[in-house]
Amino acid sequence: MTTAHDLTKNQSLVFSALSDARAPLSAYTILDRLREDGFRAPLQVYRALEKLLEIGLVHRLESINAFVACAHPQCHNHGTMAFAICEDCGNVREFTDDQIAERLADWARTENFRPHKTIIELRGQCQACSIGEP
Ligand SMILES: [Zn+2]
Ligand SMILES: [Zn+2]
Repeated sequence: MTTAHDLTKNQSLVFSALSDARAPLSAYTILDRLREDGFRAPLQVYRALEKLLEIGLVHRLESINAFVACAHPQCHNHGTMAFAICEDCGNVREFTDDQIAERLADWARTENFRPHKTIIELRGQCQACSIGEP
């Protein structure tokens, strides 16, 4: 199992930037936040992200082209990942649901479709935003 200690300096910096963020970050926002740490080029961010995605510490939100730190990095054994993304405050909740995953797997079996990855993204308002809290 890969732990945070196995990360290179750049990977750790990118992971910290995402862990500290309250909302998903684009690669360019990560770059901006890490300029003081010596990041100069988007490629440095993308290289670090690539590794972090591979080991499951970070997830990519396809619909908004941004990245989030995994909500439960101790369990790298993700099945089907689902994310609820608040369009007002940017908060992201990561969850898994075995029933949804099974239904999708059933469908794929029936249709002889071989999925490589499945990501479910719900976009809307989180509870705090929908009841009008600041
Ligand atoms: Zn995760
Ligand atoms: Zn919200």
